[in-house]
Amino acid sequence: MTSALVVDNVFVPSCSDNVAPTIESTTIKSSSCSNVEIAAPCRQLRPRRESAKFDEREVVKKIRSVVDQPTFSGDDLAFLEQHDSLVKLVKRRRSSYSKHKERSKEFEDEPEILKQSCIRLAEAIRSSKHTIMYTGAGISTSANIPDYRGPDGVWTKLQNGQTVTVDQSLVSATPTYTHMAIEKLLQVGALKYIVSQNCDGLHIRSGVSPDNISEIHGNMFTEICSECHKRFYRIFDVTEHTGLRRHMTSRCCDVCGGKLKDTIVHFGERGDKRWPHCWESACSHVNDADVIICLGSSLKVLRSYKQLWLTDRPKKCRPKLYIVNMQWTPKDSQAVLKINGRADDVMQRVMTQLGLTVTSYESDSDALLRLAIPIASSESETFRTGIIRVPPTHAHLLAHVTPDAAMRVDPNCPFSRKIGPDDDDESTRADLSRDTAVVSTQPDMPGWFGKGRKRVLVRKNSKRKRKKVLE
Ligand SMILES: [Zn+2]
Repeated sequence: MTSALVVDNVFVPSCSDNVAPTIESTTIKSSSCSNVEIAAPCRQLRPRRESAKFDEREVVKKIRSVVDQPTFSGDDLAFLEQHDSLVKLVKRRRSSYSKHKERSKEFEDEPEILKQSCIRLAEAIRSSKHTIMYTGAGISTSANIPDYRGPDGVWTKLQNGQTVTVDQSLVSATPTYTHMAIEKLLQVGALKYIVSQNCDGLHIRSGVSPDNISEIHGNMFTEICSECHKRFYRIFDVTEHTGLRRHMTSRCCDVCGGKLKDTIVHFGERGDKRWPHCWESACSHVNDADVIICLGSSLKVLRSYKQLWLTDRPKKCRPKLYIVNMQWTPKDSQAVLKINGRADDVMQRVMTQLGLTVTSYESDSDALLRLAIPIASSESETFRTGIIRVPPTHAHLLAHVTPDAAMRVDPNCPFSRKIGPDDDDESTRADLSRDTAVVSTQPDMPGWFGKGRKRVLVRKNSKRKRKKVLE
């Protein structure tokens, strides 16, 4: 007799009759014969299954060593023939691994190809009615913020068991040429909207209006009231006390007293597509778009946001896709043009083609200064991280900021203490070292960078360990 069994509503595969019942076995009910107690022999199959897996692994190991040889003996050929299905499996795995390695390589197009591609991209922007742009970590690498999936990316390094060090406080990073060029395109109407995966806030700091951007994974300088949804821009990283599934920032709303929370989608979390990322606004611009430019993103996360790609439309009716990235992306085959180049380099060429001059970033006119709301006097001890550079014209933002926080990033701030390599003050050195965030060794480090990633890695490793114990 062979029958399917149900244990607490969980389907259990059927077992053959020739396995003896055990005393330890669970009492289970047959789906076809209710309330009849029978013994579950499945447990006895487990050691047999594990032993079979072990044998299979040994065979796979041997297949690998055999196929690596330059020539095969008669015995080798017979062995490979005997395990034909496993040989195919080894070949499939090898091909998939080498494809993955190839796709993760970064490379730049030849200068002449790059030049022609940039001319085509500029022409597409010029003739488009509604261009929108999707930006990723690749546009901030020249601001010394590491990306995720590049050869030196956070994701890549942590997966290889390496330590990731961010050499500067993320607060002290400033907008790059690309950020300023994008702002210029918005200013002249050549670009209508930005959807960004970046949390570094550099688009806003370059002068992009919050109405022209959806920061779908949040902004490290923004906190939002959990009650009335008022948005607060700050001059410091609001995520010091937040992390995976912990979003409260320890400050309160000045309108309704509700608790404030960060806007970051931490590693390991799924983004809420309704709030706070202006998702409706992003979707509305996607619907109107005739050109989409993807800049500095591997698109491995962005591709899962189906609405951004209008996959419900026939291919001919979708916006033209232009991709600028050093690595392969899953959307390359759908792009009318793929440019393998650095964001700053490509944007410089495109802006020259369009005849547009890009102004350099000036810290005195950082747009975050205009948007920022000063903290209350009772909240001066709610953060230890540094602040962006604040010129004397915006001194009101520093009213309740402690001198320590202000000094940590900007030695020229209105407070008079100096920080530098020659400073002998022990506490100052401690402050400086705190600003150098080491992702993999400081679980409580200030800032959003890589926090959840550490936990995701730990979880994955525990799964692997459990698997090894079973093996
Ligand atoms: Zn509120």
